[in-house]
Amino acid sequence: AASERESMYLVNAFAQEFFINQMMKTDEGRSVGLSYFKERGFNQESIETFKLGYSPEAWQALTDKAVSKGYKLEFLEKTGLSIVKDDKKFDRFRGRVIFPIHSLTGRVLGFGGRILTQDKKAAKYLNSPESEIYHKSKVLYGLYQAKSEIAKANNCFLVEGYTDVIQFHQSGIKNVVSSSGTALTEQQIRLIQRLTPNITVLFDGDEAGIRASLRGIDMILEQGMQVKVCTFPEGEDPDSFAKAHDQEDIETYLQEQSKDFIRYKAQLLNAAAQNDPSQKAEVTRDIINSIAKIPDLIQQELYVKTCADIMQVSEEVLFSTLAQIKSKQE
Ligand code: ATP
Ligand code: MN
Ligand code: MN
Ligand code: MN
Repeated sequence: AASERESMYLVNAFAQEFFINQMMKTDEGRSVGLSYFKERGFNQESIETFKLGYSPEAWQALTDKAVSKGYKLEFLEKTGLSIVKDDKKFDRFRGRVIFPIHSLTGRVLGFGGRILTQDKKAAKYLNSPESEIYHKSKVLYGLYQAKSEIAKANNCFLVEGYTDVIQFHQSGIKNVVSSSGTALTEQQIRLIQRLTPNITVLFDGDEAGIRASLRGIDMILEQGMQVKVCTFPEGEDPDSFAKAHDQEDIETYLQEQSKDFIRYKAQLLNAAAQNDPSQKAEVTRDIINSIAKIPDLIQQELYVKTCADIMQVSEEVLFSTLAQIKSKQE
């Protein structure tokens, strides 16, 4: 119901303020939370823009405070802020730095929380659960802060994590959002598509998983968007790279390293196939599969020519493979 959702938004807004106050106004928050962000290089402006906060170690700090202020436990539970088990209730986020996740209008949908130590047992990031107001597949982290910049730049950078978004923003590159670790969805792409037809996917440099991510990008092509990709040096991600460079260097890097997705994929797979005929046939079919997703037929044709060149396969063979794949799709 609408009133139930409204109550959940109000509880989340209260929690966001609570986490901010905990970080800025308590000894624990300042010495643990705030100093964590400062060490990562986040300045006060970024902390305020992204409403970053800290959840104290105590078991029920938020739950008790919220209940004492008149917020109902029911909504604390429905937003996932409180966990109720038998007769016990406790906070989901404890001893973590907090990244609120906002709607397009800036309302708080949920939270991500990062542990401060390298504790191998606990998950590095913990997130609010799906709820009536938080549908992970329909949300992009940072979109609220980035939307006008995406339209202005007519391009959207898509990164993996919260910290990549914030560090880029702080470096002056503000047209950036993250799917926050989950596989990209069609609804997320549509959110971007309302603002720009251009997307640049930035991969962490620590990813054996780049190849696994290629699949997800086909879906972006299918939506008719122009996709570029950019990788970072081994062991780096956009956050660490942006922290170590100034805006001009980052922009130069992005300009020089961003490659058309189909071209990038063709080069990557072609190199891996190493002239082995059966492998080469397999990766060629894979590329043509991607090309088949592009709605624009003129672009399809141009990409076939590009790939023929990269793969050293005749255009005729590629065109007939494309025709085969498309006839199977129908
Ligand atoms: P950091 O720099 O803080 O270590 P990161 O953003 O570089 O974090 P990655 O390991 O690259 O983290 O993961 C990218 C994103 O995936 C994270 O920002 C987070 O949203 C999500 N993620 C990572 N690990 C987990 C986890 N254990 N549980 C849930 N989500 C996770
Ligand atoms: Mn990663
Ligand atoms: Mn990363
Ligand atoms: Mn990182």
